[in-house]
Amino acid sequence: MKKIQMVDLKGQYEHIKDTVNTSILNVLDTTAFVNGPEVHSFQKELEDYLGVKHVIPCANGTDALQIAMMGLGLEQGDEVITADFTFAATVEVIALLKLTPVLVDVNPSDFNIDINAIKKAITPKTKAIVPVHLFGRCANMDEIMALAKEHNLYVIEDNAQAIGANYTHKDGTKTKAGAIGHVASTSFFPSKNLGCYGDGGAIFTNNDDLAHTIRGIVNHGMYERYHHDVVGVNSRLDSIQAAVLRAKLPHLDTYNAKRQDAARQYTAALKDHKYIDVPKGKCNGVDTICDTCDCHVFHQYTIKITNGRRDELVKHLNEQGIPCGVYYPIPLHKQKAYQDDRYNEADFPVTNQLIQEVMSLPMHTELENDQIEFITTTIKEFLND
Ligand SMILES: *Cc1c(COP(=O)(O)O)cnc(C)c1O
Repeated sequence: MKKIQMVDLKGQYEHIKDTVNTSILNVLDTTAFVNGPEVHSFQKELEDYLGVKHVIPCANGTDALQIAMMGLGLEQGDEVITADFTFAATVEVIALLKLTPVLVDVNPSDFNIDINAIKKAITPKTKAIVPVHLFGRCANMDEIMALAKEHNLYVIEDNAQAIGANYTHKDGTKTKAGAIGHVASTSFFPSKNLGCYGDGGAIFTNNDDLAHTIRGIVNHGMYERYHHDVVGVNSRLDSIQAAVLRAKLPHLDTYNAKRQDAARQYTAALKDHKYIDVPKGKCNGVDTICDTCDCHVFHQYTIKITNGRRDELVKHLNEQGIPCGVYYPIPLHKQKAYQDDRYNEADFPVTNQLIQEVMSLPMHTELENDQIEFITTTIKEFLND
């Protein structure tokens, strides 16, 4: 059996080495390092793939979120609702822009923002909702968009973990994650489902005016050379990263299918264990185990250990040469930087429990059957002790 890794970027690179190397060398030959033709071509190819009108590349996923919020013209004191159970980047940019983050609880099954918690948190100052498609599975976008419409709010999808996922609407039609809200952000950090070999990110929108505004913001607020109409930032995807992404984009569906295959094998082995909850979610309104549909692209394969032995299990797996992670160990509302008197522990029962129960197993495009077999057997043997 090959050594088990949490993410295997080297193994993936080996399969596409020739294409990637040629693409990178081509950029070196043209010396168009910034805003070169590779960036433009990648932008067009990603627009086609996602079925979204505008992709605006930028430097990373955190910038993408910040720029999306700047583009919407949100102002100091505006309240932005997001999930308590996510990576800190989401709340960080809200705070940086002097907007007011309002953290709310998530669902126990799919770990995504809870629609009822959003409803409770809406005030006259609320301007936007940021659903995070956590671990690769879309939040409940039909209900979120309907609620946003009712209260005249913007929806910014944080799609850093779910690129390529298909969201199935109530009527059965499908839309790619990131093409549903008013604007969306993604990250091309190497370990993400579509990762480059450095930092990268992008903003998506179907709104022509917003796309125009954002194209200026990423470029120092310039709409005409040396005319700075708004306060902007400098956030660019470099051409070498775009070349890598162009080489990888045609493989994204296959990569996600490989993650789904691995997830299916994990789920088959673990779903009947009394102390393990496997990934679940609502599909067309019905609670389903995520092993048959394409709405989950498994950025992480995250299970819950319900007998209180999660930490012991993590330690045991590490000792057996099985890397695994706890995403995320601390709720955002308890982080020093984001504590606020407005929060009441009673409003976060799910997040407070998830942080004690969740663990993410190795997940990448190169996992092999015998590795998954070893991982699941080791987990079950430990829990049965
Ligand atoms: C990775 C990630 C980000 C940030 O992306 P970077 O490219 O690392 O800045 C934002 N939100 C979520 C949910 C992420 O997983």
